[in-house]
Amino acid sequence: MARKSVPRETETRVLTVSGRRCCLCYGLLSDFDTKHGQIAHLDQNPENNSFDNLAFFCLPHHDEYDSRPSQSKGLTIAEVKDYRDMLYRDLDARRRAVREDLVTASAARHELAAAKPRLRTSYRPLRPPEDYSYADIKRLSVAVEVPLGRSEEEVKKTLERAALEIAERQTPNALMVLGYRPGDDGKGIYTAGRAILAPNGRWGDAAKEAQTGIAVDVARAYFAPQATLCPGDEAILLPSPGGTVDLSRERDDWTEENIVLRVERRTPAKVLKRHEEALTPDRLFIRYLVQVTNGKRDVKGWVHDWDVKPVEG
Ligand SMILES: [Zn+2]
Repeated sequence: MARKSVPRETETRVLTVSGRRCCLCYGLLSDFDTKHGQIAHLDQNPENNSFDNLAFFCLPHHDEYDSRPSQSKGLTIAEVKDYRDMLYRDLDARRRAVREDLVTASAARHELAAAKPRLRTSYRPLRPPEDYSYADIKRLSVAVEVPLGRSEEEVKKTLERAALEIAERQTPNALMVLGYRPGDDGKGIYTAGRAILAPNGRWGDAAKEAQTGIAVDVARAYFAPQATLCPGDEAILLPSPGGTVDLSRERDDWTEENIVLRVERRTPAKVLKRHEEALTPDRLFIRYLVQVTNGKRDVKGWVHDWDVKPVEG
């Protein structure tokens, strides 16, 4: 069938907005892959080149749609337009997410250096890097532990820092850092977040030589509260190895002048009060007022929930 071609500008817009994804593959099969395909006129009128009348179809779906004698059989225009619009919205959201999270490695390094004094970004590798190299392209995946109690920004910077430092030592073409909450064996889905250091921040784009970006995903699971203790419970104060716990007279401030006592790891404590505060819909802060015995004196002070554990057994 001879057809008038779609004006160049409209054609480009359809190809760009659809990202060459077929809206029927997407809508009917949840298939989000890019396809070889063509632009179809949804009302089957080749003169109608309005953007709303056009959609990118893979070749099989294009043939199937074009060969139908009337709209009464199979898919309706309204259905196809719905799938197409869902695809456009989905793609737009994904593109925004990547744009927001993607930075170049050098920008990340600069930002990190500037943020160092105020952000907590330490991490602990859980095991040696796993090698996923092929065809001369070196790809590594590393699992790290991210301490609890960090803000979303800190988790993001922690993962960026891990990616930059590990990449400096191992010089891979692509690196995936998977962040886990403490206590997680780091073998399942990441529970703190993920950083990908690769061209465009995409693992699949790994190549020998290309400009490199870091894309970071912070996992909502990281902000799930720990098992909670109740007033009256016996507990122990258990910071990360080597750490101490500061008891504060204020429930939201741990600056030096408010510290009433600094205690060692594994100090027994009694829970007096629990305070919960949702700082964002995803993030619940829990703090405890605890009492510890210091010599012959009972001392009360506020501690972060991640430093308090129930007495085992
Ligand atoms: Zn298709």
